[in-house]
Amino acid sequence: MTQHNELQSLKIIAKRLARKSRIAHHKALDLIASQLGQAHWNALTAAWEKGWRPEASMLEELLNPKDSGDADVMDIPTLGIGLGVEEHGVIDGHPYRLEIDFEVHMAEIGWWSILVEQAPSIAPQIEVYDRSDNNPILNPEFRAKALAICHEAADRLRARIAVDWPRRSTKPDADGRAQHPLFKGVSSKWHCLHCDAVSSGAQMAANMWHCPKCNATPIDIFAEPFWKAARPPAA
Ligand SMILES: [Zn+2]
Repeated sequence: MTQHNELQSLKIIAKRLARKSRIAHHKALDLIASQLGQAHWNALTAAWEKGWRPEASMLEELLNPKDSGDADVMDIPTLGIGLGVEEHGVIDGHPYRLEIDFEVHMAEIGWWSILVEQAPSIAPQIEVYDRSDNNPILNPEFRAKALAICHEAADRLRARIAVDWPRRSTKPDADGRAQHPLFKGVSSKWHCLHCDAVSSGAQMAANMWHCPKCNATPIDIFAEPFWKAARPPAA
């Protein structure tokens, strides 16, 4: 994780927090905002637009939490954590930084950033930090070049993750059955805890085990929709 005061970095922190704590993404965003002294995420982004930035010390604490309670989750090798790489390059004279870790994050410091996630169903998120006309990301040709680099990096990330997953997680068998990369169950039908979508093994494999409909992460994908049982299993 980088030390730059970018909104995108805060969103990535929130995403990891949501994943780790199994809370909704918007709740994690609000939590991050409150830790930075804002009432909620919308207040934070409104303040950000007006030039507010978190104090370096607060940001530092968020980026490098003393509590290492998330280490076990963040170090799950099957999700590619800890295998991050940082690369640098130049497009049309503009230097960029490309980070490949849990997701792909590309940025030209102070100007723009692009976030591409593991699941192909999630559209790239582009942030513009400088609204002046000479921001290169506003140029469609430049943007296409940057996105192409992000997509190539995302392909590498997905391939690297697939190496750690059981073969059946990325290649369903002849009956369409695929293996959940974390829970190890094998099934041809998969249920999303978030939106109740039912997806095939091939769909799950193609979308890196994120729900193709709502983008929920692999920890919310189950072979059996246990939440629909008449009686929930005893805790
Ligand atoms: Zn879903």
